[in-house]
Parts: sequence; structure tokens; C-alpha cells
Amino acid sequence: MANVILKNIKKVYPHAGGAVKKKKRTKEEGAKKSNLQITEQGVVAVQAFNLDIADKEFIVLVGPSGCGKSTLLRMIAGLEEITEGELYIGDNMVNDVEPKNRDIAMVFQNYALYPHMTVFENMAFALKLRKIPKDEIKRKVQEAAEILDITEYLDRKPKALSGGQRQRVAIGRAIVRQPQVFLMDEPLSNLDAKLRNQMRAEIIKLRQKVDTTFIYVTHDQTEAMTLGDRIVVMNDGFIQQIGTPQEVFDHPANIFVAGFIGSPQMNFFDAKLLRGGEGYSVSVNGVRFGLPEEKQALLRTRDVPEQEIVLGIRPEHITIGREDDDACVPAVVDLSEMMGTSIHLHADVNGKDVVVVVPTADAQDEGRSAFTHGMGIKMEFGGNVVHLFG
Ligand code: ADP
Repeated sequence: MANVILKNIKKVYPHAGGAVKKKKRTKEEGAKKSNLQITEQGVVAVQAFNLDIADKEFIVLVGPSGCGKSTLLRMIAGLEEITEGELYIGDNMVNDVEPKNRDIAMVFQNYALYPHMTVFENMAFALKLRKIPKDEIKRKVQEAAEILDITEYLDRKPKALSGGQRQRVAIGRAIVRQPQVFLMDEPLSNLDAKLRNQMRAEIIKLRQKVDTTFIYVTHDQTEAMTLGDRIVVMNDGFIQQIGTPQEVFDHPANIFVAGFIGSPQMNFFDAKLLRGGEGYSVSVNGVRFGLPEEKQALLRTRDVPEQEIVLGIRPEHITIGREDDDACVPAVVDLSEMMGTSIHLHADVNGKDVVVVVPTADAQDEGRSAFTHGMGIKMEFGGNVVHLFG
């Protein structure tokens, strides 16, 4: 058990050269695509990274591919050198401490099991290296196998296991070491959707059983939202926002976070913030509507002037307005997807695809269970939860 402190951490991958040219070049090309900073020294994969992780906290690092998540995790593990900054595990600064002496265990996306060893041997390996007595190894492996429900596979080789079972073994191998910190790098991304959901639930249970600090990397916002006590949203090597899943969902710090967290994705409109006698209002495509009181109060306190803004509204927060309501934005249904309890409408607003989630029950109440292609609708934003980005 331990807290982890990251102080102003930076990672620069030096420019490629010499024998490893080919591989590094490919990585640098990746960096160019993802808008990472490239300096004379090299690719800046992570910078200005500050985070205090509490003992037993479950932290999720989330962001698109190439944003620096794995680099950060690998620096914590000691598999990658830290270019600048300080890393503490417990009370010790560990920048120069060997991986094996950091008291951490890492679970990789590709499981990284030894193919020639049985499940038992795979799980026992690290303990054997530590010269732990045989009986104790047996007890620890048995205990971990029970937690993960893999006792019946202990004699099998990895190739005789399914993907989900292999991932359990990989996690089991980490558990037996009883590390101070668990590091997990996209542990579920090689599993199919159903198994991924199942394993996600297992990780929540595992966390309750082992009760230690977790740092978990994923590009999947659903995993981040369901697993993290707090989530750290990253993009282009920088932290974009740190908060509980609810905080990040309700109050995204910028357009990137707003678009990344939440599914279906938030809709964005170019809009104008207006200020008049009756308070603040917003105009989208020439249609003007009022803002909820909470938003009004915030704008008043900050004395925000009229300006061009981007308005964000989640698909669940758009309502279908009345035909004759002038305060609604007109749209045309392009596609209607029945999802069971809700209908996902893709609608065209002046050439822009806007997604609306309509509860199926509401649609049926209003006699609109069939939203057909080409049907004209009105979208109501007024008084709804909206996000304003200046
Ligand atoms: P993520 O885990 O978020 O997908 P990574 O941490 O793997 O991102 O990579 C961050 C950036 O650093 C990427 O642009 C990647 O191309 C670059 N990168 C990763 N490893 C190397 C390396 N060994 N040499 C050069 N660039 C690298």
C-alpha cells in the first residue's frame, strides 16, 4: 500500500538514430499525427504532469492513442527513464530505483505470460526469484487463483486458455506479489466486448479484495468512468483534467474533455452568447434560447461579455420540442436507431450531424415511436444542461 506522487514529470524520447532507426521513426511519425510537441531533443511524450495519488486510490489515465498514457505508466514502473521531474512511491523518490525494487506489479495488454510454463509456474515465478519458501508460494498462488476463479487451470499452459483466462493469470501473477501499487496497461483491450464488460466488473471486485493503489491506463472512456475513483484525462502529452468521473462528465474543463468523455459524444455548435435585460441567452443558427439559472448566475458573477462561443450539449440533454415552438432549432432526421430503452436519432441541423437520445417511453407517449428518415423535428435547448466554451 502506498501513495504515489508525480511532480512535474516530463518525458522526451530522443530523436531516432543508428541501428534502431526504423522502429523509432515509426513512433515519431505517430507523434506527428497526435500533435505532440517535437523539439530539438526529441518527441515530448509527457510534460507538466503533476498528480498526487492517495494510498488505495484507483486512478485511471485515459486519452486517445498516442497521448502519453503508457509512457507515463512505464515511467512509474521504471521501464522508461524519467527525463525531468520527481516520482515518489510511498515516501521514497524512486527515479533511480530499479523496477524490481519499486514494489509494484504491472499487468500488460498482451498478458506477457511465459508460454512454456504452466499457470501455476507463471504465477509463482516472481516469488521463486525472491526465494520465498515453496509452501508459502503454493499458498499465495492458491489464494490468488481463488480470487480470480482459475484454480482448475493451474496445471495448464497458457496456449490452452481463452483470452479472458490468460488475462486472469496475468492479473494473478501480479496479485501474488502483493505489491504496493498495481499498474495496468490496457489490460482488457484484447478481449471481445462481452468479456471486457465481465472482466471490468471483476476488476472492481478485485480492487475491493486486494485493497491497494491502482493506476490503470485505458483509451476507453467507459472503462475510465466505471473504474476510477478519479480519472486523469490526457491529450498530446498534457493533463486536460483530473476529477471524479461525475465531475469530469458534468463539468468538462475544455472541448477536448467534453468530446472525449460521454457516449454518444457531446454535440458542439458555433454559437453566440448574448446579454440582455432578461439575462444571458445563446443563439444557435439564429434561434435564441435562455440558459438555466445556475449558468446565468455563473456568467453574471464573472461579468462575461457577449462573444462567439462553442455550445456543447449532450445527446441526452436535447429534448424534442413542439412543432410550433420558435425557440427550438429545426432539424431533419437522417437515421433513427432503436437501442431498447432509448432511441438514438441522428439529425441534420444545417448540414451538421447532431445526435439526440430520446427515451423510448417518451417517444411512445407522444406518439412518435417511429422517427422516420426525412422527418422534420424541433430541438429544444432552452433551460437544458448546456456547456459553454469560450
Ligand atoms: P499511449 O499509451 O497514450 O497510446 P504512448 O505513451 O505509447 O501513448 O506514446 C506517446 C507518444 O510517444 C506517441 O506519439 C509515441 O509515438 C511516442 N513514443 C512512444 N514510445 C517511443 C519511443 N520509444 N521512441 C520515440 N517515440 C515514442
